[in-house]
Parts: sequence; C-alpha cells; structure tokens
Amino acid sequence: MTLSSPRAAASPARAVASVLAEAADARATVVLSGHVQPDADALGSTLSLAEGLRRRGARVLATFPDPFTLPASLGWLPGAEGLVPSSSVPSSPDVFVSLDAASPGRLGELAVLLENAGTSVVIDHHASNPGFGDVCLIDGGAPATVSLVAGLLDELGVTLDPQLATCLYAGLSADTGSFRFGNTRPDTHELAARLLATGIDHPAISRRLFHTAPFGSLGLLSVVTGRAVLERDVGAGLVWTWSSSAEAAEHGLPGEQLEALVDVVRSTEEADVACVLKGQEDGSWSVSLRSRGRTDVARVAMALGGGGHVAAAGYSSYTDRESTMRALRRELGGL
Ligand code: MN
Repeated sequence: MTLSSPRAAASPARAVASVLAEAADARATVVLSGHVQPDADALGSTLSLAEGLRRRGARVLATFPDPFTLPASLGWLPGAEGLVPSSSVPSSPDVFVSLDAASPGRLGELAVLLENAGTSVVIDHHASNPGFGDVCLIDGGAPATVSLVAGLLDELGVTLDPQLATCLYAGLSADTGSFRFGNTRPDTHELAARLLATGIDHPAISRRLFHTAPFGSLGLLSVVTGRAVLERDVGAGLVWTWSSSAEAAEHGLPGEQLEALVDVVRSTEEADVACVLKGQEDGSWSVSLRSRGRTDVARVAMALGGGGHVAAAGYSSYTDRESTMRALRRELGGL
C-alpha cells in the first residue's frame, strides 16, 4: 500500500515525500509540530514522522505549541519523552512540518516558522485546511493525519516497527472513534492490519487512550450530564451542557478530562448535534460540537471562527454562556 486514499492525488504525497527525503539526505534540520493541545492524531503523526525522518538521517526536533504539557492519556507515547518546548527549536530551520493543524492559528507561536523555515510542509486531513505551506499534503477524505504519515513513511522507505506503529495506531484509532466513525474506510482497516502485524499491544493502547481516568471523573460526569439541556427545536435537535477547568479541579481532575464529556453527551438520540462548552482559565469557552449525521458541524464551527470535520468540530467563544449558545442556535437554524 502506498497512498492511503484514492482521493489523494499521487503528486502532493510525492512532492512532500521528496522534500522530506532531500532534507534527510542532506542531514537538514527539520522541526515538526502538531496543533495546540495535541490529540492522539496530532501527536502520533508528529512522533512517527519525526522518528522516521531521524532514521533517514535528518536532524529532527519535535515540538508542539504552548502550553507545553501533555495529558496523561498521551504522555506515554513512544518518543514523547524527546519532545522539546517551542522555545528550544531553531527560529529558521531548513524544513518546518505542520501536522493535523487546520489553520496557522492552530500552531500558536510556532506559526512564524511557516515563514521563517527554508521550506514549510503542511500535512493534514481537515477539509477546511486552506493549504498554508510551501508544499502541502491535504486529504479531507483521510481518516487521520497518521494515515497520510504512514503513506509518507512508505515513500521514504522507513519500515514500520512497533514504535512507529504504536504512534500511528493511536492517531488512527482516536480519529476514527476506534473504527466506528464514517471516516473509516476499507484501507483504514488495511493500515490497522499492517500496524497490528508489527506486534503492537493494541488493547493496552486503547485502554490508555480511551478507558483510563481518575475516579473523580465519575463525579464530574454526573454533574455535567445532570444539567444537560435538550432543545429539540434547534436545527435537527441540540443537546448541550457545560463545565470548566475550575470545575474539573474541584473533582481533582486536570482540565483535559473535559474532552471526554462530549463523547457521553453525543449519544442522545433526540439531538443531531451535541455541544459541550468547556470554560477555560482565561474565561473563554472552548466549544466542542458533534453531529450524528444530518448537520455539518464543520460549517457551523467555521461560521463561528473555528473548524474541524463534518461530524466533529470546535471553536472558541469569548462571550458569556448565554450569548455563546444564542450564536450557536442561530447557526444551527433555531431561535
Ligand atoms: Mn486528526
């Protein structure tokens, strides 16, 4: 298997692979970063491509934008211990690679490297990505950025081993909802089969990613689901609730535990769209949207200043809770 998607023209993947191969052959300095507050796909794609390029001879620095802390669910990924803070990367590397970031804003303080690097490379699977690099591999049909990276590693002649496969599998299983979402295609399972064939401990990966949380998360979940609101008349139905990093702290939890809430709320049968408002320390709301299929939440999120996928998207809101919900209802076609 080479390219993971029939929709991805061979040429963008080859163009990116040849930039990366040249950089490796020249022992050039390559800085790689995923988006701010990296998830399993951002981190898995960054770590696997970084390791692949390192093996091919490049001088590699893998980083991600501030805040430079990883959730416990991801900090164990092989290679994560070698990540360096953004302040430690050269200001004008030979090559800068952006992974899983839909827009320059998602790169935070690292976005300047798009201009300052000799060559900037953008690898992403968000359909809304405008293509902000010198060389781009963007495939909105790919289930995850790691699936694009797997194709690049093949092109670079890097053999998949358990270390690389663990990072790739983490991103693939996370972005496909453990192969349950509509972005899962036949070649998604073909890639998963290749990754499993390296001998990775996939049940342990899934457990660490999806089924490990402190006891306090049950208390938070009960409070947050207990105040969920169902608004059947908004769009094709809306269910929403809210929490905050301060409330998570009351339950002894880091703010990252808020990310799991939307996956519970989204099961509501009567609502096509699920929404969780997550209060941040700076007073803003980080808004997560999920669709059961009839609503394009990427469109909604983009209209409100964010982005994402048809079935999973998000944005930030800097007004109070009621104003935030009023704006959302308006975009969803309700009152
Ligand atoms: Mn992704």
